[in-house]
Amino acid sequence: MTDFDLSPDELRRLGLLAVEAVATHRAELEARPVFGKVGVRASLFDEPLPEEGRPFEEVLAFAREHVLPSPFGNSHPRFFAFINASADPVGVFADLMAHAMNPNCWGGDHAAIHVEHRVLAWLASILGLPRETEGILTSGGSMANFTALAAARVAMAPWDIRQEGVGAAGQPRLVVYASDQVHNCVDKAVDLLGLGWKQLRKIASDDGFRMRVDLLGAQIAHDRAAGLLPAIVVGTAGTVNTGAVDPLEEIAELCQREGLWFHADGAYGGMAVVADELGSLFRGLESAHSVAADPHKWLYVPYEAGACFVREPGRLAAAFRRPAEYLVQDAESPLLGPPGFNDRGPELSRAFKALKVWMGLKVHGRRAYAERVRRDCALAQFLAQEVDRRPVFERLAPVGLSIVNFRCRPDGMSERRLDALNRQVVNRLVAGGGFMLAPTVLRGRVSMRVCIVNFRTTETDLLALLDETERCVQQLVGGR
Ligand SMILES: *Cc1c(COP(=O)(O)O)cnc(C)c1O
Repeated sequence: MTDFDLSPDELRRLGLLAVEAVATHRAELEARPVFGKVGVRASLFDEPLPEEGRPFEEVLAFAREHVLPSPFGNSHPRFFAFINASADPVGVFADLMAHAMNPNCWGGDHAAIHVEHRVLAWLASILGLPRETEGILTSGGSMANFTALAAARVAMAPWDIRQEGVGAAGQPRLVVYASDQVHNCVDKAVDLLGLGWKQLRKIASDDGFRMRVDLLGAQIAHDRAAGLLPAIVVGTAGTVNTGAVDPLEEIAELCQREGLWFHADGAYGGMAVVADELGSLFRGLESAHSVAADPHKWLYVPYEAGACFVREPGRLAAAFRRPAEYLVQDAESPLLGPPGFNDRGPELSRAFKALKVWMGLKVHGRRAYAERVRRDCALAQFLAQEVDRRPVFERLAPVGLSIVNFRCRPDGMSERRLDALNRQVVNRLVAGGGFMLAPTVLRGRVSMRVCIVNFRTTETDLLALLDETERCVQQLVGGR
C-alpha cells in the first residue's frame, strides 16, 4: 500500500529526483527532435488502469524515458509554430510551490488572493489601463476573451439578459464585430454566449491585415437600419496570423461615438507594450472597455495563465455574480477579504496561477521583459530581411511584432502547386526533427509562418531554418 502523505525528508528525497529530471530534460532538449512526435510509440501508453501502485521512483523513471523526451517542443529554440512561448524556469518552480500550497483561489483573505490582485494590477499598469480596472487570471486567452465578452453582453443588452436570455421576446439581436483575422476563440465565445454566428460580422482587413474601420462604420449603420443592435467591437492587438495590430485608436473613437463596447484581444500582442517603442502601435488599447492578455505567451509563463481586464468596476460581477448559501460570509467571518474571483468568471475552484506570474515579474523586473520582447521582434525583422534577400523566397505579409510570413517560390509554378509545395516543405522540416512550424493561409495562399516568442532563439536558428528550407525545396523540385 502506498502512503498519500509523505514526511518532509521523503518529500526532499523525491523532490530532488523530480528536479533532476527537470534539469536533464533541459540539458537534452536541443539534442532531441523539436516536436516529440509519439507516432507508433503510442502503444507505450496503452496499459490497463493499475489496480496496485508502483514505487514513485519506478513511475518517474518511465516518465523520464517515455514522456519528457517527447514534448510539444515550444521550449526549444527552433519551435516557430503557433504562438507558444518557451517556459520560464522561474515559473516552473513557482508552480511547484503553488501546487504544494494548493489554495483554492475563488476568494478569501489568504496570500494567494492578494498575490493575484497584485499581479492583475501590475499587468493592468503595463497595458496602460486605469487603476480602477478589475481583472481575473484565466486559463488562457480564449477564456480571457470569453470572460470579457460575457461582461460586454450583459452591459450592452438593454434588458436583463441573464434573466430573460438572448432571445427575449421583442428584443433586438446583439451584433458583434471583428476583423476577418480575428482569433477563432471569439467565434467560440459568441456561440457560447448565445449570440449566434449570424450576428458576428467579420470586417475585411486591409493590405496590412488590419481591420478596415471605414467598412466597420458602414456595417454598423447597415445593421442599425435593419433593426439589429450593434453592441461589441473586438479589435485585435496582434493577430495570430500575421501579428497585425488593428487601428485600435480609430476603433475606440468609433465605439465611443456609436455607444459600443470596445474589446481588445491582446492575447498575443498586448504584453508587447512593455517595450515602450512599441507603445504607439497600440494607442487606443488603454481606452478599451475590456482587454484580454496572455501571460503564457509574451511573459513566458508556463501554461496556463491568461488575463481578462474590464475597466468599469462591477461589470464583471454583473455578468458572473450568483450568490449561493454555502459561499455567503457574514460580516464577522475571518475568511472575508478582497473581492472574490468567483464573482468575476465562470469558475469556482481555481488554481494559484498568479504565483508564477508574480515571481517572474519580481525575479526579472519589467525592463527584462521589455528587452526580451524587443529581441523577439528584432529577430523577426532579421528573418524578414534574410527572406527578402534570398531569391527562392517570397514574403506574404508585413512583419507584425514577431511574426514573419513567407513562402518558397521556385520559378514557374502554379499557385496550386506552390501551396502543395509549401505544405510539403513544412511537413519535411517538422518530420526531420530540426524545426517546428505550422503553416497558415493568407488571402488564399499557403504561408510558412514563423512566430518567435522564445528567449532561447538566436539568429543562428533562423539562418539554419532558411538553409534547411532551401535544401528541402532543392530536393523536392531540384530535378525538374
Ligand atoms: C493565442 C491567442 C488567443 C487564444 O489564447 P489561448 O491562450 O491559446 O487560449 C486568442 N487571441 C489571440 C490574438 C491569440 O494570439
